[in-house]
Amino acid sequence: MSDIVYLDNAATMPVRPEVLEAMLPYLKENFANPSSIHPAGQEVRLAIERARGQVAGLIGAEPAEVVFTSGATEANNLAIRGVLEPMLDRGEKPHAVTTSLEHPSVAETFKALAKRGLDLTVVDPDKNGVVSAQEVLAVVRPDTALVSVMMVNNELGTIQPVEDITRGLRASKSKALFHIDAVQAPIAVDIDVKKSGTDLLSLSAHKLGGPKGVGALFIRKGTKLEPSFSGGKQETGFRSGTENVAGIIGFGVAAGSLKSLNVSGRTKTSAFKKMLLERLAATGIAKPLFENNATHIIPIEVPGTEADFLVLLLGRAGVMISAGSACSSGSREASPVHAAIGLPEARAKSVLRVSLGYQNTEQDIAAFVEALGAAIKKARP
Ligand code: PMP
Repeated sequence: MSDIVYLDNAATMPVRPEVLEAMLPYLKENFANPSSIHPAGQEVRLAIERARGQVAGLIGAEPAEVVFTSGATEANNLAIRGVLEPMLDRGEKPHAVTTSLEHPSVAETFKALAKRGLDLTVVDPDKNGVVSAQEVLAVVRPDTALVSVMMVNNELGTIQPVEDITRGLRASKSKALFHIDAVQAPIAVDIDVKKSGTDLLSLSAHKLGGPKGVGALFIRKGTKLEPSFSGGKQETGFRSGTENVAGIIGFGVAAGSLKSLNVSGRTKTSAFKKMLLERLAATGIAKPLFENNATHIIPIEVPGTEADFLVLLLGRAGVMISAGSACSSGSREASPVHAAIGLPEARAKSVLRVSLGYQNTEQDIAAFVEALGAAIKKARP
């Protein structure tokens, strides 16, 4: 895979070399179980606690507020089910608020709970892919138990006003807990759980230069949450199961260096994004879906083409990219997120998602624009 042009960083990012280096000893000589009380186990325990501190540092949390999971899908399920299932089990009918922009690990979890009696309100974004904090706050009721809004949308790259929502919730003295799916946020925006005042926040290591299959849920101290699994009560009882040690160590190293990488990385990404949009405008082959989108995720519309076919042609030319999102890949139905912003299906089908990472180069942008031009010629005979 060394020669490919990789512009699918929102699907996953390459593991950074220093992350891999840090992980390897925990797949070799440091193999002990961190729950073992002998010195070999305790050395691994210390390394996990160091990683917990690194992840906590990225989001301004206390280390004890970070629970490692198998990824953000699990973190989102733990947050939503952990709050609402005990209420449903007691025969209550709690109310929850979410948006039509959410990732399936949030949207489908809420839908499953709605079948069990959850009263769910789904707020739509505007045509620019942003939900209004006022609209979210307006549907919160005295019996609202949970509000869940993502921070950066994985298909559109739009930033949601999560801090305004928490501020409004606190000001209204609502008892509702607030959950943020922040998976796509760490390289795009700064996260500070103290400042934002959120109760729960999900992260995934593979969206910030760490390995796949490991994530975390921030659980504000004192927040009541029912664990999903019964077992050995690892992770302060919130997540039983022997820890994915190497994954957690990699997550820690990736999170620990991200703030300093973001300083130059964001400048570089913005420059490449500007270059990409200028070149697309100059050739007239595609245009961005939004004018004001500040992140590394750039949806572009290629009128008169099928994005899936372009993805195939670009792949053959060595350019890796997604149409919509890669997360629910396989059969590509019309994206609910594109529908939520009111994009007609025919237009939604011609949207490609370019997502940049810090390893990308100017040459990647040039190669993509050239390959896209060639692919369009083949796609539009
Ligand atoms: N939420 C968002 C916004 C995502 O983009 C993703 C991954 N595509 C997830 C949740 C799920 O994360 P994971 O792959 O770690 O399960």
